[in-house]
Amino acid sequence: MTNSTNGHDHPGFATLAIHAGAAPDKTTGARATPIYQTTSFVFEDADHAAALFGLEAFGNIYTRIGNPTCAVLEERIAALEGGTAALAVASGHAAQQLVFHTLLAPGDEFIASKKLYGGSINQFNHAFKNFGWQVKWADPDDLSTFEAALSERTRAIFVESIANPGGAVTDLAAIAAIAAKAHVPLVVDNTLATPYLVRPFEHGADIVVHSATKFLGGHGNSIAGLIVDGGTFDWLADDKYPKLSQPRPDYAGVTLGQRFGNFAFAIAARVLGLRDLGPALSPFNAFLVLTGIETLPLRMQRHCDNALAVAEYLAQHPAVATVNYAGLAGDRYHALAQRYCPNGAGAVFTFGLKGGYEAGRQLATSLKLFSHLANVGDTRSLVIHPASTTHRQLTDDQRIVAGAGPEIVRVSIGIEDVRDLIADLDQALGKSG
Ligand SMILES: *Cc1c(COP(=O)(O)O)cnc(C)c1O
Repeated sequence: MTNSTNGHDHPGFATLAIHAGAAPDKTTGARATPIYQTTSFVFEDADHAAALFGLEAFGNIYTRIGNPTCAVLEERIAALEGGTAALAVASGHAAQQLVFHTLLAPGDEFIASKKLYGGSINQFNHAFKNFGWQVKWADPDDLSTFEAALSERTRAIFVESIANPGGAVTDLAAIAAIAAKAHVPLVVDNTLATPYLVRPFEHGADIVVHSATKFLGGHGNSIAGLIVDGGTFDWLADDKYPKLSQPRPDYAGVTLGQRFGNFAFAIAARVLGLRDLGPALSPFNAFLVLTGIETLPLRMQRHCDNALAVAEYLAQHPAVATVNYAGLAGDRYHALAQRYCPNGAGAVFTFGLKGGYEAGRQLATSLKLFSHLANVGDTRSLVIHPASTTHRQLTDDQRIVAGAGPEIVRVSIGIEDVRDLIADLDQALGKSG
């Protein structure tokens, strides 16, 4: 169990969520992590400056590359995921961009699950073309499609642990085995699960990314992204990852994979990706995400308990055709949920209305307590009709495989009193059904 305390050597999840990476401020005694709202840091002397720039010493130079408030957030997420190191960046999309920038060169390919956040589908199909990175789509419900998509140029496999928007649970261990056999890293977007529900490194993942904008921050007040290095992948085994396995002309011939061992990926994403592409996280947003993470175990359990109660209510409602929540006993992903996320199947799921497209649109605007907006993972309950909003840019076929057909409504269940959420759904379904 991830949320228990298992002895003095290994603090439990709830303890790490509050303490990992943080200590009282040495100068002032401040107990909460200070917001180091500064662009740059004074060097001790010329040798110290040279050592920092030569990657011979760790320390602060300039907030685009690293910042002490962001560093506490990095240590905390690395501890919660069980990784070796992490990197905090400006958004979940920036995290994905930096991961692929570190792994791929123009002409390279990666395989991605078709069941993804709509923004990621757009980023991979369109923006990444400008870098010469080719996505090959695979179906997580048919693992042979991952094997079939492998080629000489494959450099990574990308999946979500609990997939947006349909709440599908991914068989991480099976996909990790395919990645390991091909010797490419498995990158897992753990946004909807958070490490409270799923810890992808325990199932063979090599890199974890997060949109901390969602449940980690948890209060709908800041955009942030995280990259966690599992420390498991051997970057020097072949010449597929030259940024890690070749001497760097921009760092006096240092080979990052040799110098930094089991946290070389996190270093490379920072000193080659964040340094040169620039999507740095503001220290203020790092502070807000850190504050959110302190209550992550409490919030996630409440999110999951409320989601299950709402899903059970919807499943028996006459206007509802389908409910896709892996926490429900009859769901097609229920067995995977019991295996990968026994504490709960998350709080984002979809359901289909018998009234189709119009009923879906109508429901999203008839709810009063639920907010109609494009986000998930807020304390507040949220609703959206994907086909007319987040998944509007996709083709009909892409929408259906992504779990966002015309009749589908997506909810992100908050931590309010669940009877108030059910009462709101009841009045709105009365209008749209
Ligand atoms: C929101 C989200 C992203 C993108 O994150 P931003 O912080 O909005 O850039 C990526 N993956 C998933 C699963 C998300 O929900």
